[in-house]
Amino acid sequence: MSSISSSDATVGASPVAAAAGLVSSDPLALVREDLRGFAGYRSARTDKVEGSVWLNANESAWANEADTGCAARRYPQPQPAALRQALADLYGCATGQLLVGRGSDEPIDLLIRALCRPGGDAIVVTPPTFGMYAVCARLHGTPVVDVPLVDTAEGFTCDFRAAERAARETGARIVFLCSPGNPSGTALPSTEIAALARALDGRALVVVDEAYQEYAGTPSAVTLLEAHRNVAVLRTLSKAHALAAARIGAVIADPALIEVLQRCQAPYPLPQPSVELACRALAPQARAETARRIDITRAERDRLAGLLARAPGVRCVYPSSANFLLIRFNDPRAAYARLLAAGIVARDMRQAPGLGDALRISLGTPVQNDAVLATLAGLEAAA
Ligand SMILES: *Cc1c(COP(=O)(O)O)cnc(C)c1O
Repeated sequence: MSSISSSDATVGASPVAAAAGLVSSDPLALVREDLRGFAGYRSARTDKVEGSVWLNANESAWANEADTGCAARRYPQPQPAALRQALADLYGCATGQLLVGRGSDEPIDLLIRALCRPGGDAIVVTPPTFGMYAVCARLHGTPVVDVPLVDTAEGFTCDFRAAERAARETGARIVFLCSPGNPSGTALPSTEIAALARALDGRALVVVDEAYQEYAGTPSAVTLLEAHRNVAVLRTLSKAHALAAARIGAVIADPALIEVLQRCQAPYPLPQPSVELACRALAPQARAETARRIDITRAERDRLAGLLARAPGVRCVYPSSANFLLIRFNDPRAAYARLLAAGIVARDMRQAPGLGDALRISLGTPVQNDAVLATLAGLEAAA
């Protein structure tokens, strides 16, 4: 890895072959030059040795009185094999292409730190979008370049040409796409994501945040990885798998990039109770139940979107491929207050650019969704 010299930094593969679309470049060329030979922290779990009495990590010799299952005395595996395998099976990739993180929030941070020089380089984001890309960039001193989504009659769409141009002009190292988008609800076409990755080959990593992919019914960008080594995909167990508190997410990318990210990660990132819960949640029976609930949510999404589009005071309900609806109101303040008075907390989107009249409402159980409908039915049409 340390053999990559600065002269390779912009184009990893032969420029001619890359331009012909034959080979995509080595994504290691996108990693910060000063981190390419970085080994990270050597933990007590780094060396693969066999033994039965482990006295190498200064752990207590006894379990805590409260730790009845004796699950927590020892430091956990940095990347537990069973969970990594279960996630790789779930997302259709090889284990070497996947790094488990503390939610997908941690991989967002790792990607920015590994690819962008502190205080330099840049990332491209497409607002309105998930706020963590810009937060992590800001904490790292990385400039954020906005390429707004375009609000059309079919919903928000991504201006891929503008994103490509912005990345080229600013020398951005990462383009963060969100599909389905939060809060837009839009699933991005894979052909366009692939074209963007090809256009930015050797220049930038295209990150596709698929936090809501389970609800979409379109193919995951994981299918693009084989042809495009500069694509990375973020997945999470926080939404459709109902494990937000376990903090388990993943980044799926080229194995060489995954290795770099792991070296940038904390030594023991995954709490053992979370790992065990996630493994149980990915057993066949739990997965089948998750799939059933996703079906219910998708059916509810269509039902609610149809009914709300005709509700008084509703300007527009955006098409959604996720588990929420983005809705514009004539009087968003009144809609928010009315929901709150009924005990229903919606997400006020008025701070987001171009969404001054919008609320984002997560889909709940059918009973909860009925309560949303009943509450909003009382809005004044004229208000
Ligand atoms: C909710 C959400 C996440 C999830 O983050 P976790 O850290 O995995 O809980 C990531 N991206 C988007 C767009 C989200 O809406």
